[in-house]
Amino acid sequence: MVRDLLVETGAVLRPDVPLAELTTLRVGGPATVAECDSTAALVATVRALDAAEVPTLILAGGSNLLIGDDGFDGVVVRVATSRVRIDADGVLAEAGAVWDTVVAETVAAGFGGLECLSGIPGSAGATPVQNVGAYGVEVAALLRRVRLLDRVEGTVRWAEPGELGFGYRTSVLKHRDDALVLEVEFALDPSGRSAPLRYRELAGGLGARDGDTRPAADVRAEVLRLRAGKGMVLDPADHDTWSAGSFFTNPVVSAERAEEVRAAVLAHVGEVTIPTYPDPNGVKFSAGWLIERAGFAKGYPGPPARATLSTKHTLALTNRGEARAEDLVSLARTVRAGVAERFGIVLEPEPVLVGITL
Ligand SMILES: Cc1cc2nc3c(=O)[nH]c(=O)nc-3n(C[C@H](O)[C@H](O)[C@H](O)COP(=O)(O)OP(=O)(O)OC[C@H]3O[C@@H](n4cnc5c(N)ncnc54)[C@H](O)[C@@H]3O)c2cc1C
Repeated sequence: MVRDLLVETGAVLRPDVPLAELTTLRVGGPATVAECDSTAALVATVRALDAAEVPTLILAGGSNLLIGDDGFDGVVVRVATSRVRIDADGVLAEAGAVWDTVVAETVAAGFGGLECLSGIPGSAGATPVQNVGAYGVEVAALLRRVRLLDRVEGTVRWAEPGELGFGYRTSVLKHRDDALVLEVEFALDPSGRSAPLRYRELAGGLGARDGDTRPAADVRAEVLRLRAGKGMVLDPADHDTWSAGSFFTNPVVSAERAEEVRAAVLAHVGEVTIPTYPDPNGVKFSAGWLIERAGFAKGYPGPPARATLSTKHTLALTNRGEARAEDLVSLARTVRAGVAERFGIVLEPEPVLVGITL
């Protein structure tokens, strides 16, 4: 039936694909996949599936998805477009373009702006979904517009950043099925200088101070170096990178609640320097720091567990080679319960969970 629906859309249909092959956590059961390598095919495919009320899952790089072992009962639409066009004041990329290629090409063409977002896996089209960010920069700050398929109306239109409800690792596009990103356009700095450096570790590595700028190419190289040291650049040979990046978001709590957390940290850990960051909604704590102080060290619980914390970074949950989604969820539950018990903070997962709950 799905085959009949999609026969004229330009999608390539593949039945019974193990979704583990399409995700960076390398877990997830089987599903029918409709691969779309043109924007026209994407639009036609999603419109046809929506009209027939077939459940769909949009998947691009699979680097922010934890899919259950039963797979997905519907059609996975694989975003496989790839065109990137750089012009005088920025870059336009199709949704499926590999994000790091977009960053590399803009830096090589002499543009600044995206360099701090080097090395993040996945696609250009997914970057607005969770307002991808790293080293003090978020895509929301550079995005000029996003071309969307409105799945309720069936229409294609450009949306301004102001319409997308950007926040810390979120937007109106996350956890919702009513829009498909088709293209993204970023306004960049033709001077070739980086955005002002806002992250101490990065600025330090470049011999710079907070707020300084540097050639974008230098910043990109340093970001890639720092990320590789934390297992945050994909490397098939390194199980620490068989992850979805940070598994939990950094929790933001009210100023009042922050004082209670500080008291709990002092009581349990006896430490006075607690890394916190100002946030429009209160105070942001470091999830990785809380996890570590709750007693979960890097690599927890160690072999022979099939899923462990990364040996380089407590915030990444990783597949050591044979893990199933259930192993990762079970580890996530243990870590979340430990942090809640010790500090009264319930961590929220950053990846999108499909067919599985925490
Ligand atoms: C090693 C590693 C490091 C990471 N580091 C970072 C980091 O520093 N900062 C950060 O923010 N993230 C980071 N991530 C998370 C991830 O790379 C980003 O969220 C990325 O943008 C996901 O892109 P993707 O194409 O893989 O999305 P997918 O995993 O394929 O999809 C993620 C979600 O977006 C939806 N989606 C995907 N494409 C579209 C589209 N075109 N239109 C509508 N919805 C869509 C999917 O349905 C799903 O809900 C990291 C992940 C890994 C594995």
